[in-house]
Amino acid sequence: MEILTTIAQCRDHRLSDRAAGRRVALVPTMGFLHEGHLELVRRAREVADSVWVSIFVNPTQFGPHEDFESYPRELKKDAELLAHEGVDIVFAPTTEEIYPRDPIVQIGFSGLERKLCGTDRPTHFAGVGLVVSQLFNVIQPDRGIFGQKDAQQVLLIRRLANELHFPVEIIVVPTVRESDGLAMSSRNAYLTPQERTAASTIYATVCKARDAIEAGEVCGEAVRRILITGIRSEELLELQYAECVDVETLERTEMISGSVLLAVAVRVGKSRLIDNVTVTPSATAEGTT
Ligand code: AMP
Repeated sequence: MEILTTIAQCRDHRLSDRAAGRRVALVPTMGFLHEGHLELVRRAREVADSVWVSIFVNPTQFGPHEDFESYPRELKKDAELLAHEGVDIVFAPTTEEIYPRDPIVQIGFSGLERKLCGTDRPTHFAGVGLVVSQLFNVIQPDRGIFGQKDAQQVLLIRRLANELHFPVEIIVVPTVRESDGLAMSSRNAYLTPQERTAASTIYATVCKARDAIEAGEVCGEAVRRILITGIRSEELLELQYAECVDVETLERTEMISGSVLLAVAVRVGKSRLIDNVTVTPSATAEGTT
């Protein structure tokens, strides 16, 4: 496994991969890796000959009062985990390599970036869109591997890749969870034991709402109420949003007739945690409203 830090090195290695006819899969991450990231890496291995992982805590996707400075970084341990998974290339650039000066290019998503997580993090997806475009441009992967845990990110990256004609196939891996259902996240490291226990309520609540739809609930507002009540039942959780939305437009669903995204964000102590499931109501369930 090689660790590259410059764009020039990436371009050289990419040329060698291309000359040898190797298909490249890229797993973009911010490091402090856990099993969720490693699942993406394993999926990458299945769909490519050369697996690249980027590790870059991207400043442009953090708001001014967010945890950019304190975001956990552990490159040495990450590199060991990735070597063990048989990764070919790690790209771990400095901030200056990616942003030699403050960028003036901005990626917008016509308002989709302001929904869900964008309510509290209005500049987040512009930063994600910029850095993913940069990585796709520098590495030119055949496949880009992303986690369903960040459902809104997946939606926006698919649109970005499609509309900017990046020749990359976006592959999405289901959310990897702890044994009590909590979605794995680098930010779980900030939780105290009590907060960690409370955090299991997040997925339990999303599942309750999903079960209601599967049992025939068709009223979006009723489903939203289940989410809100579930999160509020645990006093250590501070609700940021709880939504039942259309999977493409992220607009609130009034009557559930097709696939919906159930998505929540909560604050727990110093962490902000998100989770989601996509539900397609079964044709046989009877409506209850
Ligand atoms: P991050 O390092 O948090 O930026 O995440 C890098 C990639 O890993 C993103 O595509 C995330 O969606 C994905 N990811 C993070 N946590 C999980 C998880 N628990 N299960 C699946 N994918 C995940």
